[in-house]
Amino acid sequence: MPELPEVQTVVSQLEEKVTGKTIKSVWSEWLKAVRPSLAIFERRVIGAKIVETRRKGKHIVLDLDNDFSIVIHLKMTGHLLVKHDANRDSEAFRDPYNQFIHHILTFADGTTLEFSDMRKFGWMEAMPTAGVETLPSIASLGIDALSEELTPKTFDAIIEKKGKSKIGALLLDQTIIAGIGNIYRSEALFQSGILPERLASSLSKAQRHALLMRIKKVLRKALTFRGMSDGDFRDTDGREGEFQKILGVYGRDGKPCPKCGTMIQRVRIGQRSAFFCPTCQR
Ligand SMILES: [Zn+2]
Repeated sequence: MPELPEVQTVVSQLEEKVTGKTIKSVWSEWLKAVRPSLAIFERRVIGAKIVETRRKGKHIVLDLDNDFSIVIHLKMTGHLLVKHDANRDSEAFRDPYNQFIHHILTFADGTTLEFSDMRKFGWMEAMPTAGVETLPSIASLGIDALSEELTPKTFDAIIEKKGKSKIGALLLDQTIIAGIGNIYRSEALFQSGILPERLASSLSKAQRHALLMRIKKVLRKALTFRGMSDGDFRDTDGREGEFQKILGVYGRDGKPCPKCGTMIQRVRIGQRSAFFCPTCQR
């Protein structure tokens, strides 16, 4: 499932590739995912120009020049491909994971933005730009994990308020900090030497601050690898992300820890599996 680095990878690429383009037509063969309806979606976006691309949590927001915005959520297996005459026949687009195209926005210059989604849980909505922040799945989000406002002081305040939570659960709670998913929670805790089951309140100030630094570092590092593809995720060129090549613990249960050789273990916290090294993490 795409997490913050994967979604930010898409947003950054879209910013370069589709900003300034005018939407000519919309095609969809999976109407349940087009909100509020395909007819209203078309009325709100056709003829409008994309003026800005941004990320809100794991939502992709394309602001148009007519005070409407397109909000896209990739959910489990969604990804967006940007195709034009020069790349349409590329090898990456022939990847089997890129064949589940259910929606296409066509721009005036012939470029297409294609939404591939095997499991079909992803969606796109055309709504007034002023309403984007009030969308329930956006309004409920806590502070963004990559926001400059997430300072050591803010993190201290969060931990003091939620001290009774396991740190592994707290990091996954999107209403507190938005953007740390299952993969990056395990990696940041591993790099910080902190067990996911520790109570948040048991972390010393130095450990908290080291953890926060590791969270930001691992997310930024993942951005440089264009995110992670352990399954479906592809960037807008149809290519896999490469962060999976440098994973320490995520998905590696039963394999040796890259630091000490101890068998990596897994435990369920916050309804998802957390992966850890029982020797390196305390
Ligand atoms: Zn270890």
